[in-house]
Amino acid sequence: MLSYEEALAELLANVPKPRPQGVPLREALGRVLAAPIEADLDLPPFRKSFVDGFAVRSQDLGQTPAKLKVIGVIAAGDSSLPTIEGGQAAQIMTGAAVPPGADAVQMVEKTRRENEFEVEVLEPVGLGENVATQGSNVQLGETVLTEGRVVGPAEAGVLATFGRAEVEIYAAPRIAVIPTGDELVEVEQEPKFGQIRNSNAYALWAQCRRLGLDATVFSPVPDEPDQVRRSIREALGYDLAIFTGGVSMGEYDYVPRVLAEEGVTIFFHKAAIKPGKPILVGRKDDHMIFGLPGNPVSAFVTFELFVRPAVRRWMGFKRHSLHKVSGELIVDATQKPGRKFFKQAMTVWAEGRFRVRPIETQGSADLVAFSAANSLLILEPEVARLEAGQQVEVLLLDDTNPYYA
Ligand code: AMP
Ligand code: MG
Repeated sequence: MLSYEEALAELLANVPKPRPQGVPLREALGRVLAAPIEADLDLPPFRKSFVDGFAVRSQDLGQTPAKLKVIGVIAAGDSSLPTIEGGQAAQIMTGAAVPPGADAVQMVEKTRRENEFEVEVLEPVGLGENVATQGSNVQLGETVLTEGRVVGPAEAGVLATFGRAEVEIYAAPRIAVIPTGDELVEVEQEPKFGQIRNSNAYALWAQCRRLGLDATVFSPVPDEPDQVRRSIREALGYDLAIFTGGVSMGEYDYVPRVLAEEGVTIFFHKAAIKPGKPILVGRKDDHMIFGLPGNPVSAFVTFELFVRPAVRRWMGFKRHSLHKVSGELIVDATQKPGRKFFKQAMTVWAEGRFRVRPIETQGSADLVAFSAANSLLILEPEVARLEAGQQVEVLLLDDTNPYYA
């Protein structure tokens, strides 16, 4: 059986290469740039005033206070500018173009307005003071964002600055979530004896949303080969399909067999992890197929351990796995050695360090207990016990910031 690391490596090696796609600027938020962004203009694009004040010739202020003749008012956005000559000034607003002849701006606080035609400048200004020269931030043609950058709010502003109404990002997979099982009823239904509500579809859909993607959720598929086959054919219309349930070794677990019959190459069907030993990953052409266990906690955890890295790799993120931190274990954690155990835990930052408290549960059906966890404590396969006070590693589930690369 493959270790988690081997299984993940196998999976990542089989994720289709990220494909560029043009989208409107607003849809680029949280996504990865597929091409560098070059400045389409100088920034600032013209000589510009940093302050509200008076555009002057600095040599006129050798002795202050000095009276200057006000020959006009320049607002931000004005394009016809007066030329400033000796003894003259123009009133100017923040962001307005500095007029020819002027070489500095004195801020309004250091002036006294005599009347409409005259200003008294109280202090001298240095050459170029309060003036941003053209191209002093960025020059035309310069690379302002590199390929691989994640578009966050500041990047959205940068893209807008340089006129990118449409942005080349890496495309996201179109995802289908397919619950399987005769026992499943929908959330609004009252389960009869032997039935349970289809909770996995909602959790998995929400996990996709946390990655910034809206998955299509199929109605539960009965444990019947033809129905499973039909759902697989429909699922292959998506880039990435996530089956849940019906992937183990039970008599009615048809998903693996029918996938193989439909031409899906299965890379692995098991990994040495807990929860979630039956975990299937396959591919047909550029379609990736995941078969997650039916148990709600196992489905949740295997999504985070396998589907998430694949989706993020697909979308061009360099960092694909959950954020790992180390912290101090608060109470002992044990396991029967053999598989890598991702044990649900609550991790909080307190007094300068992470403190990790494992959460005891009734097993991998116990989603209620799991819902109180925000992290997964890692017990390596050979480790039977971690003791309170020890430094341990945890994966943060709540690291919802989709913007980091
Ligand atoms: P399976 O992997 O199909 O053997 O299912 C394992 C367990 O998970 C069974 O107790 C199922 O009833 C349960 N289960 C399967 N699918 C779902 C689902 N969509 N929502 C909640 N529980 C499920
Ligand atoms: Mg089942």
